[in-house]
Amino acid sequence: MKLPRLIKRHCPFCKKHTEHKVMQAKKKAASSLSRGSKYRARKRGLARGLGNRGRYSRPAVGSWKRSGKKKSKKTDLRYECKVCKKTHMQKKGKRTKRVEFK
Ligand SMILES: [Zn+2]
Repeated sequence: MKLPRLIKRHCPFCKKHTEHKVMQAKKKAASSLSRGSKYRARKRGLARGLGNRGRYSRPAVGSWKRSGKKKSKKTDLRYECKVCKKTHMQKKGKRTKRVEFK
């Protein structure tokens, strides 16, 4: 999907249409404190010790179980208002393989 770098949109902070800079959200690194992390499991007294507790290791589920694997991702765009410099997100992501800026 090709997108313009600058776009006129409604700014919820200025409450009017202003020029916005379009950016793609940065991919966040997995936090050790996020939900379902091993760190939190250890805090609850789970996932202690070494190894995988005698379980047989196999490849990730996505590589063998999910047949209709999606080829595209939803866009996660951020719009920065040029007037107040505040950023807001797009409401709904559109499925696309990649995002290009003109
Ligand atoms: Zn604004």
